[in-house]
Amino acid sequence: MHPPVALVGNLGTDDEVRYLAALSAAMPEECVRPFRALTEMERATVEVAVVANSDPAEVARLPRLAWIHSLWAGVERLVRDLGAGAPPIVRLVDPELARTMAEAVLAWTYYLQRDMPAYRRQQEAAMWRPRAYRAPADTTVGLLGLGALGAAAAHRLLEAGFRVAAWSRSAPSATARAALPPIVTCAGPDALPDLLARSDIVVCLLPLTAETRGLLDARRLAAMKPGGALVNLARGPIVVTGDLLAALDAGHLSHAVLDVFDAEPLPAGSPLWRHPDVTVLPHVAAPTNPVTAAAVVAGNLRAYRATGRIPASVDTARGY
Ligand code: NDP
Repeated sequence: MHPPVALVGNLGTDDEVRYLAALSAAMPEECVRPFRALTEMERATVEVAVVANSDPAEVARLPRLAWIHSLWAGVERLVRDLGAGAPPIVRLVDPELARTMAEAVLAWTYYLQRDMPAYRRQQEAAMWRPRAYRAPADTTVGLLGLGALGAAAAHRLLEAGFRVAAWSRSAPSATARAALPPIVTCAGPDALPDLLARSDIVVCLLPLTAETRGLLDARRLAAMKPGGALVNLARGPIVVTGDLLAALDAGHLSHAVLDVFDAEPLPAGSPLWRHPDVTVLPHVAAPTNPVTAAAVVAGNLRAYRATGRIPASVDTARGY
């Protein structure tokens, strides 16, 4: 019998019940219990914690913790809160999450390519005015980030006939390249201005790290194609909100679709809510699916129990 697996974090009652049921069903051989339901003696035996919106103080009360499995793909908060010396963090890499994100990227790309923000405004003015059609083949989507989610989005966009270019930190390895569709790729800060300048729609799928915080500032937004649009489905602080508003107000950018913000929920007083060229979404691009996420956790945990090897984990110095 293995020591219990602790579910740590503030999920809310309904989600906690859902995640516990999914995790228990995916790995009936394990005993998954919420942190608060464990006695101090049981806590002292826990090797693996499954975490979401966790309180670092609770994680610190698991002295034998060997590694942590995040239920989220983005782990910047966990990395920050747990700090140096924390056990390895395994983040969620779930094909269903990637599928959901790729669907969101395609949906919001279509929204912009088919001029929905302009037609919405025209409808408000009861204005009947067809606009010129721009085909996907004449529309370049620039993906910032070509990881698990960016690669899935690239496949989906290419299938839909868009031209796709993608930017990452390092050039994709030969293995990663072989799994990618035939798209233009580039890497490193020097390559960013060109990618921004050639893209009609820029989609951000980067992790939030020391390097990406504030990345899309006035200078980078000015490098975007005039009339271009931005879709941020990654993390709010990657974009400097004031600079984005200035670029929209100046007419340099046509529209921004934002799923993520510096503060969430987006405060009622934020100018983003009422800006005519901004679409606000309440962080819904790719919610974790408890059932498929639990299957991923179960696979990683079984491999660990069988081999003693901790699954591939986040490079905390790099931040992702
Ligand atoms: P990955 O770690 O798989 O991929 C990250 C990509 O970003 C990699 O291509 C990486 O480059 C690139 N990257 C990182 N830092 C830099 C940098 N400084 N310059 C250029 N490129 C960089 O992450 P995922 O694809 O799984 O997830 C991406 C993010 O999406 C998550 O961190 C999370 O914040 C967000 N997310 C949002 C959701 C939502 O609902 N809105 C849901 C789920 C995730 P390289 O390939 O060289 O390593």
